[in-house]
Amino acid sequence: MTNIIDGKARAARLRAEIGRQIGILRQRDLITPGLAVILVGEEPASQIYVRNKANQAREAGMSSFEYRLANSVPQDKLLGLIERLNGDPEVHGILVQLPLPPQVSEARVIQAIDPVKDIDGFHPINVGLVATGSGEGVVPCTPLGCMMLLTHHLGEMRGKRALVLGRSNIVGKPMASLLLQADCTVTTAHSATHSLADECRRADILVSAVGRESMIGGDWIKPGATVIDVGINRVERDGKVRLVGDVDFDSAREVAGAITPVPGGVGPMTIACLLLNTLAATCRQYRLPFPDDIVSRAWEDEVVEAP
Ligand code: NAP
Repeated sequence: MTNIIDGKARAARLRAEIGRQIGILRQRDLITPGLAVILVGEEPASQIYVRNKANQAREAGMSSFEYRLANSVPQDKLLGLIERLNGDPEVHGILVQLPLPPQVSEARVIQAIDPVKDIDGFHPINVGLVATGSGEGVVPCTPLGCMMLLTHHLGEMRGKRALVLGRSNIVGKPMASLLLQADCTVTTAHSATHSLADECRRADILVSAVGRESMIGGDWIKPGATVIDVGINRVERDGKVRLVGDVDFDSAREVAGAITPVPGGVGPMTIACLLLNTLAATCRQYRLPFPDDIVSRAWEDEVVEAP
């Protein structure tokens, strides 16, 4: 029977444990982790993401600072705000919600964030540290959440064939790098990949981060494979806007060994990992030990799903 990997429940438990650790930090060290979130423009999806991130940060006991800038904001003004937040002792993590409007260079903005406060892990220094497998550096939230789900579900991944569909800097590339570090044999596929269905059918682990509604049907999936659906696509069905993934859930669950649903899979884990990265950044800034066992603590009394 296919396991449905319940990212929503896992994320809730992880957030609760992060909240517990923040409570300790506040009481013992009189430190409250602070997350600054910058939103440029009024894109509805980005507004929802930013609201969720800020709410969940507050619920976990963090300070949350929100900055909403007009879509027409000049680049220098945004860079000035980042510079100020870099020097603000109450802010330990800075997130700039992407995408940004055309007058602003994403690369310039990402590079302006102090790497220690870059809780998205997009700064080239963090990208390099993660890609080289140094064990240091900030792992981007979505791939980090996917790896947590995979590790929890599969345990050992050594020697497994993994296919990452998508090669963006924020999901596909770091995901492939992390799977490689877990000793998987990794293929990265993209819009120029030939015989995509065949590539998918070879994969023991299939991670899709494309952004195309139900592109992957059950007939593209190897029986028993573990499927992580990162895609978030808004579709109108029965007069309502719904979120669906890149994977056709109903046909895929007939074949896969385990699968993440959309919504309720990777999305909640991404936000939990953002809080985790903010807590880790706070500990680093005060040279305090980070509780490395936080994930196993959060999920410790949960039965590990058999692959
Ligand atoms: P992106 O930057 O647009 O990258 C999409 C990737 O998919 C590109 O590498 C592209 O190939 C590839 N692609 C597009 N059409 C394809 C096709 N027909 N066949 C094969 N490959 C194809 O997107 P992203 O930022 O990585 O996000 C991907 C999806 O994940 C989106 O739906 C996004 O909303 C979602 N997402 C979810 C979370 C979460 O927390 N759940 C977080 C981040 C993103 P080329 O490089 O060749 O163009």
